[in-house]
Amino acid sequence: MAFQALYRRYRPQRFREVKGQEHVVAALRNAVRDDAVAHAYLFSGPRGTGKTSTARILAKALNCEDLDEGEPCGVCEPCRAVEAGTSLAVTELDAASNNGVEAVRDLIQRASLGTAGRTKVYIVDEVHMLSNAASNALLKTLEEPPGHVVFVLATTDPHKVLPTIRSRTQHFDFRLLGASLLTEHLREVAADAGLEVAAAAIDSAVRKGDGSARDALSALDQIVASGGAGEEDASVDEVVEGLCERDTARALGGVALACASGADPRSVAAAIAAHLRDGLLSLMAPDLVSLPDVARERVADQARRLGPAALVRALEAVGDAVLALPNAPDPRVTLEVALVKVTRPDADTAPAAILERLEHLERRAREMTTAAVEATSPLVAAPAEGAQPAGPPAPAPGLRPPVGVEGASPTIEPGSVPAPGDPSAGGPGPVPSGPSRSAGVPGGPAEPAQQPVRPPSGAPDAGGLDQAGTASAPRSGGAAGASQGRPSAPAGAPAGGAPTGGKAAGAREVLGAARGRRDEAVATPPPAPQKPALGSLGATRGRRPASPPTPPSRPEPAPAGAPPSAVDGGEAGAAAPDLVQLSGAWASEVLPQLSSVSRGRFSTGRFVDVVEGSAVLALPNAIMRDKCEEKRPELERVLALHFGRPVPVRLTVDPSVGAEGGGAATRPGDAEHEDHIDLDDLVDAPGDARTGIDRLTEAFPGAEVLGDA
Ligand SMILES: [Zn+2]
Repeated sequence: MAFQALYRRYRPQRFREVKGQEHVVAALRNAVRDDAVAHAYLFSGPRGTGKTSTARILAKALNCEDLDEGEPCGVCEPCRAVEAGTSLAVTELDAASNNGVEAVRDLIQRASLGTAGRTKVYIVDEVHMLSNAASNALLKTLEEPPGHVVFVLATTDPHKVLPTIRSRTQHFDFRLLGASLLTEHLREVAADAGLEVAAAAIDSAVRKGDGSARDALSALDQIVASGGAGEEDASVDEVVEGLCERDTARALGGVALACASGADPRSVAAAIAAHLRDGLLSLMAPDLVSLPDVARERVADQARRLGPAALVRALEAVGDAVLALPNAPDPRVTLEVALVKVTRPDADTAPAAILERLEHLERRAREMTTAAVEATSPLVAAPAEGAQPAGPPAPAPGLRPPVGVEGASPTIEPGSVPAPGDPSAGGPGPVPSGPSRSAGVPGGPAEPAQQPVRPPSGAPDAGGLDQAGTASAPRSGGAAGASQGRPSAPAGAPAGGAPTGGKAAGAREVLGAARGRRDEAVATPPPAPQKPALGSLGATRGRRPASPPTPPSRPEPAPAGAPPSAVDGGEAGAAAPDLVQLSGAWASEVLPQLSSVSRGRFSTGRFVDVVEGSAVLALPNAIMRDKCEEKRPELERVLALHFGRPVPVRLTVDPSVGAEGGGAATRPGDAEHEDHIDLDDLVDAPGDARTGIDRLTEAFPGAEVLGDA
């Protein structure tokens, strides 16, 4: 027997063999059984979903000599004649190729003649293609149909069918087949046909079928003929991988592979577009993806890697290529150019390309941040436990507790503080215990910090305090320590972490702290209550969200951390904070506490001196100084709150301040703050009374105004 395409060999011959259209065939079968068949049907739906096959089965059923509940027997003479295409009871007209009125007239004439069987079925395929005249001729017949005739009008586009025709028919909508149904169908066919087909080949055919049983079977035929799973599939996958990896060579290699295996660039482009579309769907509406599971996951993974913006852009580019291909002198080049554009957005200045690059950057940034956090967190966690024992001694240098401690400091009993009188020396006092420190590190929760603090401060041992003192001092931001002439050697490094700092700084801090704590742990194994541990753990956990840049409620400068508490302890009206403390707290602790307008103004300034107990803040120019003067009370209020004592502020002008890029530049770690632009911070430029002419003449020395403007 000559080769017969699978889709023809496995064309459904009975109602029950029609896949995925149960709603249609059940109605038709019942109509046949009950002898209630309408005189005209309209079958609409995508191609390859069984419209024509169903019409033929209907013809069989209407002529079968051995009907079973509306189902044709398939063995009687009329049934076999219909199946063989020799039955006079079935007349087909393809309106796509015979759309003229003549063809329809001819059809109608025959319809009015006698009948060979019981009922004649006229099938008009692609009925929406009929010309107007033909449609009207058909309409006339539909209005007064001969009794022995049934019209089946099939169309892929029911909206283009004359409404008057539609309204005279019973309309059935055929649907695309789901991937699982199609897979099952292909497996059955393959098994029945004795084909050895790999699961991947079935998947590939299902994908190409895209919901159409006929297309899927054709694809299966093709795959079987080419001896295995579609190479085109593999090459399309390769192209998409290339897009994901932004690997131009790989994408083009995929195209070359496909073309080498004989694929037409057009079909490759269409396949790429279909693949990308599935990817987009898997991101936006996963339920709509009709793919076998394995392929579905693959596509979804690729889509995630590409990201929506890149996906849309790729889809557009390939879609454009598909449109341009029919007229392209060399279709392959057109496709390749499209792929290069997609893989090299830097070579494309279209907004979409730029958007995609942005998205790509964002994703990379996210990944890096996540990676960084993950890299540091284990360290943090481990040390935290180790630190537990270290409790009291703990003052790990690294810790830049100020943040956390600060919260606790106010509550610390004076007694505990060693030398309240001496703020600078004070550093040690409160800061002490390991636990507090650990709590402090996270910078978050003041509560946990407090608990730990008490025990140590309570009395533990002078030694502990002392130790703490040394440790804390350094950490208190190298600055304070140094200024106070503290030895505090170790601290240096850890303190490095600027109080503020962005995530990076935060991470550094954590690392430093962790390291410090570990050291301590080794040094002093002792007591360590659980509470601190919990606190530290909790704190550690809390840290990430706590986002270092803006210290919690009441940020406190590293240096200040200690002193303030000391002050609280007893020293009323203590000496003003020194310049180092002021500078240390300025950008990270004080500025953020100001209202946005004030912050904008003051951020241009910098503390340059402490004179007679007043902090001298230099501003780049007189205008800014005047503006800041208005807000001076607010600044003093914040400073007083922060340092725990009144801090008078004097404003001066120092142009070099501006040149340095604003007062916030006290520490390099504060770069983030400088980038930050708050619209509220913007102030109007001074008014300019000059006219445009004035300014023009000024700008062009020697220019003269010749006439009235
Ligand atoms: Zn029959």
